[in-house]
Amino acid sequence: MSREEKVVLGIESTAHTFGVGLATTSGKILANIYEIYTPKSGGIHPREAAQHHALVAPDTIKRAIQSSNISLSEIGGVAFSAGPGMGPCLRVGATVARALSLKLRVPLIAVNHGVAHIEIGRLTTGCRDPVVLYVAGGNTLITSYQDGRYRIFGETLDIAAGNCLDVFGIKMGIGSMPNPEIRASYGEKFYPLPYKVKGMDVSFSGILTAALKLVKEGVRLEDICYSLVETVYSMLTEVTERALAFTEKKEVLIVGGLSRSKRLRKMMDEMVKLHDAKAYVVPDAYAGDNGAMIAWTGALQLLTGQVVSVEESRVRPRYRIDEVDVKWFHINTE
Ligand code: MG
Repeated sequence: MSREEKVVLGIESTAHTFGVGLATTSGKILANIYEIYTPKSGGIHPREAAQHHALVAPDTIKRAIQSSNISLSEIGGVAFSAGPGMGPCLRVGATVARALSLKLRVPLIAVNHGVAHIEIGRLTTGCRDPVVLYVAGGNTLITSYQDGRYRIFGETLDIAAGNCLDVFGIKMGIGSMPNPEIRASYGEKFYPLPYKVKGMDVSFSGILTAALKLVKEGVRLEDICYSLVETVYSMLTEVTERALAFTEKKEVLIVGGLSRSKRLRKMMDEMVKLHDAKAYVVPDAYAGDNGAMIAWTGALQLLTGQVVSVEESRVRPRYRIDEVDVKWFHINTE
C-alpha cells in the first residue's frame, strides 16, 4: 500500500442488510461481508431488523477485518449509511461507526446510501458519467450528475419497482425476485396492466393491484408474471431513455438489487443501441445493499474532506441523493 493510500471501513444498515466493507482510497475493495435479516412473514419489521443488526455487528466487523488482511491500526476512516432507510436500522450502523471512529481516532464519514450504490457501480464497471437507473426493493430513481450533484430526473411516485415484483411474488407464494421473473419466462399471453409514466416519474401501485385482480379472475400465474415484468421493465426503460435523450450522455448504469434482472438488462441493451450509448450493470456481488459501497464512497469523501463530527452524525431516514455535494466526481481512480 502506498503512503498516501488510506483504508476506510464502511457500515451498511439501512434495511435488511448489515454489511461491513473495506476499501482503499485508490479503489481497491478489500472486504465485503454481510448478514441479511429475513422476516418470518411479510415485510421488514424495522425494530426486529435493528435487533438483528445489533446482534451480528461485532462478528461481521471482525470477519470483514480478517478477510481484508489488514490490522485495525491501518484503518484511516469509518463510514456509515446515514440514510435513506429505516430509522432503527440506521441507528445501529451509526452507533457502531461512531464508537469505532472514536476508538481508532479516525474521521467519521456519513454516506448517502443511494449515492453509494452509484459510486460502487462507477468503480466496478469503469463507466464515467452515466445516466443511472437505481432500482431495488426500496428505491426506484433515474439520476445523473450535473453541476456538482446527482440530479433526480425521475422517481417512483409510490412503491419501488422491486417492491412491486417482490410483493406480488410473496402474495402468490412463489417468493420474491427473481422468482416472479423466472415464472414470467414461461408466460405466453400478455395482459395489459396500467402503464403509468408521468414525465420521467413512474407509478407501480396500480400495476400491482391490477395484477392481483387478474389472479382473482383465474388468469394463469405465468402469464400474469410475464405481463407484470414486461410492463414494469418497459416503464423503467422508457424513463431511462428519456433521461438519456435529455442529457445526451453516452452511458447508462443500472445499480441496486433489481439490476440482477436478465430481462431488464436485455431491454436496456436494446434501448441504448438506438442512442449510440453503452449500458453498464453493477456486478451481482455489489448489486444488493453492501458495506463495500459505503466504504468506497467513504474513501472518496475522505479524499475531499467530507467528514462529520460525532455531534453532526445523526441519521437521516429521508436523505435524498440530490442533497449530497459530489465533490469527488472528477477524481480519477484509474
Ligand atoms: Mg439499497
